Amino acid sequence: MAFDFQQGVLAKLASGTLEELSFEDSFAFGCGAECMGRCCRNITILLEPWDVEVMARHLGLPGQQFFFSYCAMELDREKGWPVFWLAHAKEGACAFMLEDGRCSIYPARPGNCRTYPLGRAVRYIKEGEEERKEERIFKVEKMAFCLGHRSGRIWTVREWLEDAGALTYYRMSDQYTSLVDYAMRQLNCREWMTKQTVQVILPFLFAPDMLRGRLGVSEREVGHEEFHRRRMEAVRLVLTDLAAGLGYAAPAGQDGPGPGGSMMDRVRKVLAGGA
Ligand code: SF4
Ligand code: SF4
Repeated sequence: MAFDFQQGVLAKLASGTLEELSFEDSFAFGCGAECMGRCCRNITILLEPWDVEVMARHLGLPGQQFFFSYCAMELDREKGWPVFWLAHAKEGACAFMLEDGRCSIYPARPGNCRTYPLGRAVRYIKEGEEERKEERIFKVEKMAFCLGHRSGRIWTVREWLEDAGALTYYRMSDQYTSLVDYAMRQLNCREWMTKQTVQVILPFLFAPDMLRGRLGVSEREVGHEEFHRRRMEAVRLVLTDLAAGLGYAAPAGQDGPGPGGSMMDRVRKVLAGGA
């Protein structure tokens, strides 16, 4: 996800350049051996925290180690939010591509690798006190080398996404994009987000195992999806307090999210207690 990307997508959907699909619409697609792996090199695979968490767990690596070994990031100064991607795939062959083009971490591949040739754009629309999510599924632009569109295999969008195991990724993505939307629209983060601030939130985004270890929160006690939700909530608290210190928001625990107390106490409560 990147808001740049999403805004571009929304404009293309509005102009009809991209084809929008409902969950019940059908399309033809199927991967074959002929072009396997062509889509896994020189390509920007954008990442979100759930993508990184699942890959790191699959490989048995600490989240931060995985992040620093396989991911790259850049602070998009215009948006005031960092963008993350698979480092090797952008510069050449993906680190997880096997010699025959197959994916060595297929069961744990990122959401964007799962859903191609479908994309998804989400935006949050405020209506009074309520917030509504608008979700749009579309066919991404065809890559010239990709032969998948020639397949006669027909899927509904729902079948494709279920087969790819994408729906959990979408649920987790909503938690993340809602956080980004909050930081951008309510905290005005483009005015104050710096590389140093990004360093502060990185462990919450990409090191769930480290947080669990420090707080004594076991996977049996709190499942991965719930801990992801708590981590996104913790980032809201941290950013709200930082924004408040700079005059861009009320401190968290007053008008902002989360319970009262010092920031670190509130972050601990959210992560360990799910407040
Ligand atoms: S993670 Fe797997 S599917 Fe995704 S780009 Fe890398 S090799 Fe390809
Ligand atoms: S059909 Fe397209 S998506 Fe599938 S392996 Fe070939 S290039 Fe990749």
